[in-house]
Amino acid sequence: MNKPIVLDGSLYAKEINETLKERVNRIREISGAVPILATILVGDDPASVTYVRMKASDCIKAGLESLKIELPGDTTTDQLIKEIEKLNKNENVHGILLQHPVPKQINETKCFNAIDYRKDVDGVTFTSFAMMAMNQMLFGSATPLGIIRLLDRYKIQIQGKEAVVVGRSPILGKPMAMMLLNRNATVTICHSKTLDIKEVVKRADIVVAAVGIPKFIKADWIKDNSIVVDAGYNKGNIGDTDMENIKDKVYAYSPVPGGVGPMTRITLIEQTVMAAEIKFGIN
Ligand code: NAP
Repeated sequence: MNKPIVLDGSLYAKEINETLKERVNRIREISGAVPILATILVGDDPASVTYVRMKASDCIKAGLESLKIELPGDTTTDQLIKEIEKLNKNENVHGILLQHPVPKQINETKCFNAIDYRKDVDGVTFTSFAMMAMNQMLFGSATPLGIIRLLDRYKIQIQGKEAVVVGRSPILGKPMAMMLLNRNATVTICHSKTLDIKEVVKRADIVVAAVGIPKFIKADWIKDNSIVVDAGYNKGNIGDTDMENIKDKVYAYSPVPGGVGPMTRITLIEQTVMAAEIKFGIN
């Protein structure tokens, strides 16, 4: 069997970053403004603190600015919505990211939906989802869109393929399935109530693992020469697939780390640049 193609998200994210720097310069020349991503962190969950810090550093790398809003862990839904509304009105802010997950007392869906869809660069609002589902995407959910871009970068054909997405979360599995459907794959979504998941995954030409359980998908579930995208990110840099034992039988796979993670981050930054371009009528 040939050596598998590594879907290298780190490498591609760097390539995209170079193009973003040029786009940011152009925005600055035309409008005098610098794109700004506002990040909202509620509480001090260590993983979320790290993610927000990484996103701020991604902004700098591409020439954007970030505005960090940090709220105490006991913030209420109404208080958070007020902060979001301030950012919606702030003319200098082009994109808004509410770091997921928020503390339990907050209605996350309600808060996501308070984001103005024109600033929803993480693609989390109902409006963004509906537009994407109807094939009129403005901003896509960052992780699945990053995955589609990665597949395209490596010229993986999606049309006509049998795709199986394992996981149906609103930010990952569900929009992933819809994006693959929009690209004319035949899509099956698996979840915790799916019966005989192994047999379903075995049919797949393209598998996307988005479960949140380390090494959940095993080598004997995977068809030879298929494409396996591991969106999982568990403690210790472990994905949702047993990739060590999978990679030698597949046509292509995404590593953890260095596959989907960097694509998620660069997609967020790219959509912020896009939001600024749209605002200033630059295309
Ligand atoms: P989530 O909200 O916990 O959703 C997990 C999904 O997996 C649910 O739909 C659940 O089904 C399904 N599931 C759970 N146990 C299952 C089982 N035994 N069999 C089949 N399906 C099962 O997680 P998420 O936010 O989508 O994240 C999924 C993974 O992606 C995690 O590893 C996370 O760290 C990673 N992630 C990575 C990035 C990145 O940038 N790389 C971004 C976001 C998430 P039910 O709906 O039936 O409960």
